[in-house]
Amino acid sequence: MQPLLIANWKMQLTDAQSARIADAVRQCRASGVSVVLCPSFTALPEVARVIDGADIALGAQDCAFAEHAALTGEVSPDDLVREGCTYVLIGHSERRHVLGESDEVAGKKLCAAARAGLRPVLCVGETAAEREAGLRNAVLERQCTAALASAALDEVIIAYEPVWAIGTGVHAAPDDASEAADTITALVAKFGIRARILYGGSVDATNVADFLRADGITGVLVGTASQSADDLCALIGVAVAMTEPL
Ligand code: PEP
Repeated sequence: MQPLLIANWKMQLTDAQSARIADAVRQCRASGVSVVLCPSFTALPEVARVIDGADIALGAQDCAFAEHAALTGEVSPDDLVREGCTYVLIGHSERRHVLGESDEVAGKKLCAAARAGLRPVLCVGETAAEREAGLRNAVLERQCTAALASAALDEVIIAYEPVWAIGTGVHAAPDDASEAADTITALVAKFGIRARILYGGSVDATNVADFLRADGITGVLVGTASQSADDLCALIGVAVAMTEPL
């Protein structure tokens, strides 16, 4: 299975900056790995144009929980498909913890994304306080159950992203991420769904190899280190080198 590298540009880049990084990714050699770029909604058409014909996928950072409805400001998963998206992030920690998105809403979004034919990437993970209280597994169970209990999926991508590691420069220990991946895999299996687990949280070119080597983890979700062409191409280069025969 090729490592999956997902770049989350959040609301950090202009459309022009997004297009420039997409172009740089197109130029940097990426065989042997799967790359998904998740620009902001407004940059989707431009990034789609830049990566047209390249083996790079387009993803959105969120979607509405319905196809068409009176939901001012939301973006339909059907429209994301029309823009060229094949992936969508669901329940990112900034949506949960900064914008107040509930487990229930994340679950409805996951179902809507799957109905539209998108590959949802469900983001789960504990806060620092929850971790200190020994609640990591309970949080993972709550978030996965709410999202997957009524999902019609054979397979789901889940990004284990401890909230305390996102954008902080402090990443989880790879063994710890593996342990969380085992927990998630077992939880998801209860719903008859196979899980592919990614790790996210302060991943960059210096540590990506440790996560790609970690048991149970087959990709990474990257924020900060994906928001510069040099940093993202360096990270992709490390992952590509790991897939090449010695
Ligand atoms: C993220 O936004 O999902 C993320 C992992 O960010 P960072 O890489 O900056 O920690």
